[in-house]
Amino acid sequence: MIQCMAVFSGRLYRKIKRLTGRAIGDFNLIEDGDHIAVAVSGGKDSYTLLHILDALRRRAPISYRLTAINIDAGYPGYRADIIEEHLRENGFACRMVATDCAGIIREKLRPGSSMCAFCSRLRRGVLYTEAQAAGCNKIALGHHLDDFIETLLLNQFFVGTIAAMSASMLADNGIHMVIRPLVYVEEKDIAAFSAEQNFPVVSCACPIDVRTDVNRRRMKELLARLQQEIPDIKYSLISSLGNVQPRHLLDKALSRSVP
Ligand code: SF4
Repeated sequence: MIQCMAVFSGRLYRKIKRLTGRAIGDFNLIEDGDHIAVAVSGGKDSYTLLHILDALRRRAPISYRLTAINIDAGYPGYRADIIEEHLRENGFACRMVATDCAGIIREKLRPGSSMCAFCSRLRRGVLYTEAQAAGCNKIALGHHLDDFIETLLLNQFFVGTIAAMSASMLADNGIHMVIRPLVYVEEKDIAAFSAEQNFPVVSCACPIDVRTDVNRRRMKELLARLQQEIPDIKYSLISSLGNVQPRHLLDKALSRSVP
């Protein structure tokens, strides 16, 4: 049983907790008896997710458990020790998993294919295995509102499909439910909360700088520009994902299934 010692207060904390609670209710993300594996990479999003889920847990009318799982991909310089210290100091149950994903990527990555896609696939496989070994039935990921709408725009602009992410879906392994409780929380609030709480954020230490993801950066910049003229644009976009009108789209299979 987790006995987290962190006690939070303040406007940001209350806002993030309220929005996370709303997402949990809207999508029925957490149920009595759940044991949730929280993927903790050492970034601001995953620390925030873990601490907020724990704060909600302590006041919830239902009972659920959390286990933090950290996957060290094996890039030299990754400070898993800093993450572990934070988790243990705060009383979280945790599994620290060292892997050689970096070596496998070096050896097996085919020329021209995406290093991030391969790396994510490898780490996801390890996460599923560890979640199962820990007896977890759900896996919580730290994707936030900005991730959802950037992915929506990326898919529309570059892939030609209307798709973002799901707040709750069955994992590829057919065993775990993957949940994203921060779906309603903006990245800027997470960044500010993380800085306010002095979370010991560590870099993934991999040779790829995610800021070089040119298209995602373009979506961020586009949204920031539009937000100056349309302050609520992010909320409209995230709402649009929950308000789909298939009769007004061009998906032939979908329109056949709608009277
Ligand atoms: S940025 Fe680095 S650690 Fe993250 S998915 Fe890409 S290769 Fe892996």
